[in-house]
Amino acid sequence: MTTFSSPPPAVGRLAPSPTGGLHLGHARTFLIAWLSARSARGRVILRIEDLDSARVRDDARTSALVDLRWLGLDWDEGPYIQSERRAFYDDALDRLKAAELVYPCTCTRADVERAASAPHPEDEGPTYPGACAGRCAADAQALGDRPFAWRFRVPPGSVAWDDLFLGRRELDPARLGGDFIVGRNGLGPSYQLAVVVDDALNGVTQVVRGADLVPSTPRQILLYRALGWTPPRFGHVPLVLGPDGRRLAKRDGSIKLATFREQGVDPRRLIGVLARSCGWTSALTTSSPADWIDRYNPDLLPDDPWVMSPDAKLHGPS
Ligand code: GLU
Repeated sequence: MTTFSSPPPAVGRLAPSPTGGLHLGHARTFLIAWLSARSARGRVILRIEDLDSARVRDDARTSALVDLRWLGLDWDEGPYIQSERRAFYDDALDRLKAAELVYPCTCTRADVERAASAPHPEDEGPTYPGACAGRCAADAQALGDRPFAWRFRVPPGSVAWDDLFLGRRELDPARLGGDFIVGRNGLGPSYQLAVVVDDALNGVTQVVRGADLVPSTPRQILLYRALGWTPPRFGHVPLVLGPDGRRLAKRDGSIKLATFREQGVDPRRLIGVLARSCGWTSALTTSSPADWIDRYNPDLLPDDPWVMSPDAKLHGPS
């Protein structure tokens, strides 16, 4: 008798960093991430990525939850708080050390500090020249009090994935910065390691996030392989640009969800504007995320960034 095993249930996640209020760009990406999971009858996990302690604001932790609820996006599990999950990251790092896949690096502090937050294109530094690559993991003991980072040894060759929105992508991590930081001695894991450990341990099957994180994906796939885990599907949502054609910045209050809330904007209006920007309708509807579950279609999502128009019609009577 032939038995067919059904595919694992879809598990998606929303992973805000509490470093400022969520804005329109986050709303669009989270709506798509949520619909991608819900349209596959999957579960949604919420995770707060608060490892970059210098940039985390306590009020932003709660406001991210308020913003998501206001939008009508719910979750089945979490919030998981990264700063409370240190033991899981330490375990993974120990495994990488035991396999000699990481080495202690004493190069500049600036490099080391940058590693805790998700890198965005402007932060991609120069390629690491490999100055410390001759060390083995045990050499860390001889460093005494010197601060150091653990760098992952990037193997030669490019890494490919089938992006849910961008199609097949292939990037060579050696050309994206080379050996990258996965943790700081005594201070904790980098974004790259934490995100892989959390997504893997939570059984996430689809990682849907902003296109600014494309360069992180080949690195994360290497970590999945190094840790013996199967990578999820990745989907990178084209960014939202302001009316001036520039990237939206968290510091710009006018596009923050908290500002819309205070102005009395109807979140169902906003969802309607976002759904139209995704190509699922040409009409401007007043709708909730759940209204789009059966009409969700990743193929209609435009490849280009969405340039917000000043007349986005969020205000005024519904
Ligand atoms: N927390 C990251 C950010 O807000 C997202 C990381 C991810 O989705 O992998 O930029």
